Amino acid sequence: MIDDFRHKGLRRKMVEFLREQKDISDANVLNAMMVVPRHLFLDSSFLDFAYQDQAFPIGSNQTISSVYTVAFQTELLNVQEKDKILEIGTGSGYQTAVLLELGAEVYSIERHQSLYKKAQLLLNSLHYSCNLFYSDGYLGLQNHAPFDKILVTCGAVDIPPMLLQQLKKGGKMVIPVGFKTQIMTVIYKDFEGNLTKKEYENFRFVPFLRDKS
Ligand code: SAH
Repeated sequence: MIDDFRHKGLRRKMVEFLREQKDISDANVLNAMMVVPRHLFLDSSFLDFAYQDQAFPIGSNQTISSVYTVAFQTELLNVQEKDKILEIGTGSGYQTAVLLELGAEVYSIERHQSLYKKAQLLLNSLHYSCNLFYSDGYLGLQNHAPFDKILVTCGAVDIPPMLLQQLKKGGKMVIPVGFKTQIMTVIYKDFEGNLTKKEYENFRFVPFLRDKS
């Protein structure tokens, strides 16, 4: 697994693009994305595309989210060191690695067994320590709840009630909601347990599907 000066140069350009053209201003997010070797999360045939702002196939009919999508969702999540975060849709494991790089404790669920296994191997070989699960993210992880933050990386048609339940009071969920395109939505749970919602721009995600594949 090679991460050389050429890849670091491409990452520097990617980060400049996010800061200057996409208004991502959180220095911690930009630093984390500067560190994680995104090209290793794509099949080697896509090496030249790894740092472009596009989604790419990762197998099992799924895609790695574009760099802007990852940066935007991560910035909205406002990750603090030691935050306990539940991610739905491990996919390639790239977003997981960005959260880990920010010092979070990450629990991530994937419904495709082959992706789950591949992400597990890759994250281990990069010495990231995280908790990956092969199960249906719609149900969350009751045994590990509550979570400070929840990040959904697939397009949901509704907000899964179990996820709302597993969000800590004072916590925050970032979830793209919609059928064909999704509105990036942030849900806050206040200290009394009341929910408020804020909506951002439209994105296009692979669907949030029920059950394991
Ligand atoms: N965060 C990923 C994005 C992958 S795309 C990355 O950085 O690569 C979204 C992922 O959500 C897909 O891998 C898809 O299989 C997964 N997914 C869809 N529905 C799911 C569910 N109910 N539970 C867990 N994962 C799900």
